[in-house]
Amino acid sequence: MNPIQNADLHCHSTVSDGTLTPEALAERARAHGVELWALTDHDEIGGQHRALAAAKACGMGFLTGTEISITYIGKTVHIVGLGVDPDDATLIAGLRRTRGGRDLRAMEMSDGLAKIGIHGAYEGALKYAGNPELISRTHFARFLVESGACRDTTEVFRKYLTEGKPGFVEHRWATLKDAVQWINGAGGMAVIAHPARYKFTPNEEFALFTEFKAHGGKGVEVITGSHSVPEYSVYADTAREFGLAASRGSDFHSPDESHTELGTLPFLPANLTPIWDLLASRIQ
Ligand code: AMP
Ligand code: MN
Ligand code: MN
Ligand code: MN
Repeated sequence: MNPIQNADLHCHSTVSDGTLTPEALAERARAHGVELWALTDHDEIGGQHRALAAAKACGMGFLTGTEISITYIGKTVHIVGLGVDPDDATLIAGLRRTRGGRDLRAMEMSDGLAKIGIHGAYEGALKYAGNPELISRTHFARFLVESGACRDTTEVFRKYLTEGKPGFVEHRWATLKDAVQWINGAGGMAVIAHPARYKFTPNEEFALFTEFKAHGGKGVEVITGSHSVPEYSVYADTAREFGLAASRGSDFHSPDESHTELGTLPFLPANLTPIWDLLASRIQ
């Protein structure tokens, strides 16, 4: 059998901040030639049984997944967990705790926006949340586009929802150690998501990768919709330097908002170990 190349191991459904259902995503991934797919909703594994059934119905390989929000030296970092048991009690409890506080944070974000004259943002964002436990900045962004405050969600993040802006609220997520241990305890493998997005200094990034390895982390996203072409090479080198396997994923959220379509990024560079080779026994 040919080795798998078109693996897309990062995307979001209505169970978190995507606009498509797990079923619609599976069909869309398959239509774009994806051979191996994972649904990685933020801080949730509630869509995994549906996603598996949909992947099987269209003859596509499947790995379970989630994307856990953590706080590392004061910044939010995302850790993808692949091949986890979606019924693992410790993982389920950890993710539930991680989701906790999102509602309160959303109310505070709404208060911040009200101070600059944007009213009703909490209620507005909630309308877009397919999962009331997972109200995210993306749902606020959709509301602010709908209400005419901004042209697109990118503009909303730039003007209102990032550090120092009126709708931004500091939040403490899970720890790196907890997230990696929940994933490993559930039989999966942890992967650092889109590392170029964090804008760490070289020393901070070295510390993140070193601690991640020490806690039992296994991989890093090299080819992701969040990386530029030069960043593919930078993180291919980082993967080799740290002895981490490499992952590939579009981070697709919506046909209207996402720049990167499912299954269309370049394949992994040579000389890297695909994380899905290490997870062969977890592929369904
Ligand atoms: P939250 O977990 O509520 O902090 O929301 C994080 C989500 O917001 C990310 O997973 C992305 O989907 C989205 N996001 C973050 N930054 C941006 C940005 N600059 N432009 C568009 N979407 C963004
Ligand atoms: Mn998202
Ligand atoms: Mn992310
Ligand atoms: Mn994501």
